[in-house]
Amino acid sequence: MNELRCKVLVIGGGPGGYVAAIRAGQLGLDTILVEANKLGGTCLNVGCIPSKALIHAAGAAHGLREPRGLNAIGLSIGAPKLDYARTVAWKDAIVTRLTTGVGALLKKAKVRTLLGTATIVDGKTATVSADTGESRIAAEHLVLATGSGPVELSALKFGGDILSSTDALALTDVPRSLAVVGAGYIGMELGMAFAKLGAKVTIVEALPKILPLYDAELTQPLVRRLADLGVETLVGARAIAYAGSALKVAAADGAERSIAAEKVLVAVGRRARMSGFGLETLDLTMSGPFLRIDATCATSMRNVWAIGDMTGEPMLAHRAMAQGEMVAEIIAGKKRAFDRVAIPAICFTDPEIVAVGLSPDAAKAAHDEIRVGHFPFRANARAMTLQDDEGFVRVVARADNHVVLGVQAVGVGVSELSAAFSLALEMGARLEDVALTIHAHPTMSEAFHESALAALGHPLHI
Ligand SMILES: Cc1cc2nc3c(=O)[nH]c(=O)nc-3n(C[C@H](O)[C@H](O)[C@H](O)COP(=O)(O)OP(=O)(O)OC[C@H]3O[C@@H](n4cnc5c(N)ncnc54)[C@H](O)[C@@H]3O)c2cc1C
Repeated sequence: MNELRCKVLVIGGGPGGYVAAIRAGQLGLDTILVEANKLGGTCLNVGCIPSKALIHAAGAAHGLREPRGLNAIGLSIGAPKLDYARTVAWKDAIVTRLTTGVGALLKKAKVRTLLGTATIVDGKTATVSADTGESRIAAEHLVLATGSGPVELSALKFGGDILSSTDALALTDVPRSLAVVGAGYIGMELGMAFAKLGAKVTIVEALPKILPLYDAELTQPLVRRLADLGVETLVGARAIAYAGSALKVAAADGAERSIAAEKVLVAVGRRARMSGFGLETLDLTMSGPFLRIDATCATSMRNVWAIGDMTGEPMLAHRAMAQGEMVAEIIAGKKRAFDRVAIPAICFTDPEIVAVGLSPDAAKAAHDEIRVGHFPFRANARAMTLQDDEGFVRVVARADNHVVLGVQAVGVGVSELSAAFSLALEMGARLEDVALTIHAHPTMSEAFHESALAALGHPLHI
């Protein structure tokens, strides 16, 4: 058994763990990262990146198959052909490029990387059975970053034609029909992508609406687009069983229905990865199903830190990365705390949805009076030139001092506006700050400017 020592031992090489390790290495801390599977974790291998690649490919395929927009600008084409094997190879090549890049960044930061499963012995020791043999690692600080995995339903266990998001991203053919159980962002993103690739998609959601975490005003344009794509959406419905290429569903009115589905994607949530590697021996304090951490990502045991999905919602890569960077800096002696005003959330659906900070309802509950300003993309020149003027930007601010509390948008490509929205919140911007900032013309970001003007009572272009 190799005996290794280090200052920082990071378990898990997803966006939380690999960022923590890179930053620790940059700060001169002797660091070892252990990853059981592939560097990059869920995000790079089976999450954010492959899903966005698939969404892009599906959008391109659909754009050619439904060429109304192309005809309008004077283009006509023959019938397109999709070679899905090449689509998958292209997606996988992006993943490989990025995960190889993570390996190189770790090396550059002088982080030692072991590929193998870590088993925790105590708060300062872990054993690893790696490709290079058995190792016992003694560390001064332990950073837990083991992430999360998909949740299955007892009536719909993963295997065969019942797919997790990981399985759906690994399909080598587009199924003729696909039932998606769960209308959160993962189910909606993948469901829409497969619909655009040619599958007959049905979405089954137990709650009364799709994307339950977003308000109805934001999801309305998406509901219309789903109808255009021929996606059937059953809300208030429960999936009961699957047999013979049919999903049995109890509809909102109690009636049972059978839905033809060559494959079923179960996307009902993700569970923190907590067992199977000795974590229980530390007896750390929990917060529901997650590890309890404080504002510095410290757990209940001294010098044991936890970051990313295993520490709770929102389970998003950018939160994991921000926590990872912060923990490395704290271990290096810097004063830091996780005190971000807002963590943006994006659905890469069609149209995309962005939400940063408080919605109008949440703002009303927290403050006496608020102002809300809307600006629709149908009055935005850039949206028109992009042939997609569905959606709007909405800004929410306090009525007394005009401090921006939240910004939401729905529309084509609005994910790229999220940085401006987050910056406004993080900088404590007031409506006047946004209104007095010159936004380049013609851009979709002008809708943010105009929404602030609207909240102040004097929009210019509507
Ligand atoms: C389909 C899909 C799409 C998504 N899209 C987005 C998106 O667009 N934007 C976004 O922000 N988030 C998205 N997410 C969520 C995002 O992937 C996660 O929030 C993020 O990966 C969490 O990072 P993490 O470092 O906490 O854990 P993970 O990325 O899950 O990484 C944990 C790593 O730890 C390793 N590990 C576990 N146990 C051990 C052990 N004992 N020893 C060694 N290694 C171990 C695992 O192998 C894994 O590689 C998506 C997720 C899915 C499934």
